[in-house]
Amino acid sequence: MQYFPLFYNLHRRKCLIIGGGNVARRRAKSLIRAGAKVHLISKEIESELESFLIESDASFEKQAIDINKLKNDYMLIVAATNDKAANAAVASFAYENRIPVNVADDRSACDFIFPSIIDRASLTVAISNSGKSPILSRLLKKQIGAYLPSAFGELSDFVGEYREQVKAAVTEDDERKIFWENVLQGAIAEAIYSGKKQRAHALFESALADPPKFNLQGEVYLIGAGPGDPDLLTLKAFRLLQKADVVLYDRLVSEKVMGLIAPEVELIYVGKYRDSHAVPQNDINQLLVEQARKGKRVARLKGGDPFIFGRGGEEIQTLVDYQVPFQIVPGITAASGCSAYAGIPLTHRDYAQSVQFVTGQLKDGTIDLEWSELISPGKTLVFYMGLKSLPIICESLIRHGMKSDTHVALIEKGTTDEQRVLVSNLKEMGSVLASERVASPSLFIVGSVVQLAEKLAWFDT
Ligand code: SAH
Repeated sequence: MQYFPLFYNLHRRKCLIIGGGNVARRRAKSLIRAGAKVHLISKEIESELESFLIESDASFEKQAIDINKLKNDYMLIVAATNDKAANAAVASFAYENRIPVNVADDRSACDFIFPSIIDRASLTVAISNSGKSPILSRLLKKQIGAYLPSAFGELSDFVGEYREQVKAAVTEDDERKIFWENVLQGAIAEAIYSGKKQRAHALFESALADPPKFNLQGEVYLIGAGPGDPDLLTLKAFRLLQKADVVLYDRLVSEKVMGLIAPEVELIYVGKYRDSHAVPQNDINQLLVEQARKGKRVARLKGGDPFIFGRGGEEIQTLVDYQVPFQIVPGITAASGCSAYAGIPLTHRDYAQSVQFVTGQLKDGTIDLEWSELISPGKTLVFYMGLKSLPIICESLIRHGMKSDTHVALIEKGTTDEQRVLVSNLKEMGSVLASERVASPSLFIVGSVVQLAEKLAWFDT
């Protein structure tokens, strides 16, 4: 460690800046943001800086600096003129008076350097690479900042108010640690993130009323994992996955999405195969309740969107019955993901004015669908789960009046590195299928929008 990070209280404390250009402006802005009383001296002051100083009620002298007239009651000094000799003179003054000094563009003369700052109310993250590359620090700041929702600072303010109360109510150290972890990662924090401060207060009060019970209160996140590409996860899905203690996942959740889960998180596979149900639905529902009741944060991760052919509704129903708190995070459904990555717009003013998602799953060897209702010009059909029944689907559509040269596309493992798009028409799809080995999962799109696939293809695997 080349520099020791300190968080300095500058509130209403006097700080001196010498210089009137870009650097002086940036320093003035961050010092004033921290509540400092800034005084600035420079013969010339750029106009943006001058207006900022006036707006912020900071004092300034528009004149050349006279070292002999400088006062020595500053908490810190910044020398940021473009005159090296002047900066050196200011630095010497600071050393003599034991006032910490920062000299622009001269690291060896600095007592301290300015970090890149992420400012979230009472939460502050300061980043430094010891002045080696300010750009690198700024890039890192952007990356770290993306993981800190703006309401993080509000959460920090909010829990700060309760610190003493919690200390009094939960005296045992270990218990208190669990209590705080639950507050900071559970429903109370989520309420703050979604702007529901009243609700957060109410939840906190009830937690304080019975801490042992609160410590055993888990939560379930029903999360849509999207069709495969991990970049298609929502920010909320990603954030909640990082908080989970245990993840229950399906066969459809891609390996790359699973790779985003920390190694210490417990993983439970509850996937189903077409013909053999690995874990009966009712057992999954009960497992969710059981895990949450142990006080765990349980992520129920499902391919695509949990509410589209995903049985998400049934799982949530059980949670409601058992009064387990939950959140639902929508995901990108296979139809959206696959069509986008195949360059097939599901609607298009010239080709299709509506789109219908249909399950093509066989039940007792047949498909139970109102065929004639599916067929209408200007409609795109998307069949999920229909690989086995694809020939029947094509035949039935033709039999019920759809033109046999209607364009169709079969998208295998859409949005992943292994995506394949097979374009054909209703009449010939059966023979394409016989000659190609198509694997699951795959999605079938029917309609004239498929014509655009060749022209709009962009995703090169
Ligand atoms: N809830 C999911 C759908 C579950 S049904 C969603 O919203 O996407 C499972 C069917 O979805 C599969 O049989 C297949 O038809 C389709 N599917 C899911 N992921 C897919 C992918 N990456 N590529 C092609 N089809 C996919």
